[in-house]
Amino acid sequence: MRLLLLGGTSEARDLAARLVDDGVDVTSSLAGRVARPRLPVGPVRIGGFGGVDGLRAALADFNAVVDATHPFALGMTANAAAACGLDGVPLLRLERPGWAPDPAWRYVDTHEDAAALAASLGARPFLTVGRQELARFVPALADRPALARVVDVPDLALPSAWRLVTSRGPYTLDGEEALMREHGSDVLVTKDSGGTFTWPKMQAAAYLGVPVVVVRRPAGPEGVATVSTVDEAVAWVTERA
Ligand code: NAP
Repeated sequence: MRLLLLGGTSEARDLAARLVDDGVDVTSSLAGRVARPRLPVGPVRIGGFGGVDGLRAALADFNAVVDATHPFALGMTANAAAACGLDGVPLLRLERPGWAPDPAWRYVDTHEDAAALAASLGARPFLTVGRQELARFVPALADRPALARVVDVPDLALPSAWRLVTSRGPYTLDGEEALMREHGSDVLVTKDSGGTFTWPKMQAAAYLGVPVVVVRRPAGPEGVATVSTVDEAVAWVTERA
């Protein structure tokens, strides 16, 4: 088997390590979005494929795909489903579960809705939605002293009232609480990313009584076998190898 593993997540790195250990011929693929990506073990290719056609061309070198991209990496997931569907290449989606809903959280469907709700809930929002989504928060929150946390500095010119912090998880409860206290955060905005790396901000918000706005996940790809754990993904690969 020659497996293409679409990554950029901790699960993808875990899966790559397990498969390399098992002697599977796996190549991890990263988008190349962040300046210093955490690299998985084993062979890695970096950069977009060039849409569905580009991915189909790349698939000539592989005979199975695991899409372990982030739950909000909609474009890559759609392209993988389309390309594998057209060429009959077995595809597995590995998607970590979302966080168990907390009755205190407010769910919205879009980042624009999150921005509007955050504006109505607080004066000092803490935005943890990723660099690529920040532009969608500017119209509603330009005049608020928002704290925006990202891995890499965005291209976008941010409103002068905003403060940018660059850092990368995993985070600690103490650190998150200290940051939110220091900034005076009175509303937290997040995607429903799930997982443990960014969970402490949710605990800190609960502890500080800060309301949380959660952007719901987009629907997963239709008709694609989907698992939620690395163990299940290893089993799927092993069965085919
Ligand atoms: P996206 O919007 O779904 O993808 C946009 C384009 O980026 C894709 O069409 C593809 O370009 C390229 N791309 C994305 N993931 C790729 C991969 N693993 N390998 C090669 N090309 C890839 O993706 P995104 O939301 O920008 O996420 C980019 C990467 O960051 C993903 O690997 C994802 O797992 C990771 N990530 C995303 C988030 C998030 O919140 N979105 C959070 C943490 C990590 P072509 O069309 O040219 O092939």
